[in-house]
Amino acid sequence: MSLHRIPLAGVIGSPIAHSKSPRLHRHWLAKYGIAGDYVPLHVEKDDLREVLRALPKMGFVGANVTIPHKVAVLDIADQVSDRATLIGAANTLIFHEDGKIIADNTDGYGFLANLKQGAPNWRPDLGPAAVLGAGGAARAVIVTLLDAGVPEILLANRTRTKADILRSEFGSRVRVFEWVQAGNMIEAATTVVNTTSLGMVGSPELRVPLDGLQPRTVVTDLVYNPLRTHLLDEAEKAGCTVVDGLGMLLHQGVPGFERWFGVRPEVDQATRDAVLA
Ligand code: NAP
Repeated sequence: MSLHRIPLAGVIGSPIAHSKSPRLHRHWLAKYGIAGDYVPLHVEKDDLREVLRALPKMGFVGANVTIPHKVAVLDIADQVSDRATLIGAANTLIFHEDGKIIADNTDGYGFLANLKQGAPNWRPDLGPAAVLGAGGAARAVIVTLLDAGVPEILLANRTRTKADILRSEFGSRVRVFEWVQAGNMIEAATTVVNTTSLGMVGSPELRVPLDGLQPRTVVTDLVYNPLRTHLLDEAEKAGCTVVDGLGMLLHQGVPGFERWFGVRPEVDQATRDAVLA
């Protein structure tokens, strides 16, 4: 019977109307001529378990998960990947035919793939990476940079205790700085990553001293609305290579799409245009 079903996937969150994921996956479905669909699914916390158990019975082959469900799905899934366990959150679910739910996290993959695509000369062993922020996205970025071979992570967060917790979890290659010292931290880094929501539409601007930026430094912002943040503008003026956050969103969708629909999709200019349209 499953042979006759149109494979469905979607993104589960609350709120969800703003999500760019449906545009992304529908662009790929059309590009590769796949008879499937990808829909936004507004699901409240109390309904998450019930919805996840029902989706495979309705022809869903998997789903993305976003705020506020990325941690809660770990308890509901039947199997959690090592990456998702280490990061402490999942963003991609795969539904097996027997209804089993596999949870994975592709944010770190998306982050690194975007960095490599946007800054082809970037190498993890170039030097320390400065990470601003210690929320959910920072966890994925730190796990990924350490795994890639970055010698040291210099970490600052407004709420210092959260940065200290990450250091205790991820070890001595993470060095914590006070938030007010972020400028010094940036000066010592060859990679700078903003993982805070500062600079995003509706949030205050990221106002850390940037005069220490070196031209050799690669600077990337996870914020992608606006595409060109104050941080990226200033970094470009300082001669740095800059990588915007949209590519991370696009690349993190690749492993899920491949597992659900059987084609590894390409992230190119047409993908960016489709999502921004
Ligand atoms: P989160 O868990 O809520 O963490 C938010 C972070 O921002 C924390 O470090 C927080 O510091 C900091 N922050 C918020 N307001 C601040 C302020 N006024 N001053 C200083 N620091 C402040 O959120 P998240 O899931 O990590 O997401 C963070 C950002 O990354 C969002 O803009 C999100 O859209 C973006 N993101 C992008 C992608 C992508 O694909 N490009 C993927 C994931 C996330 P405290 O700990 O002190 O509160």
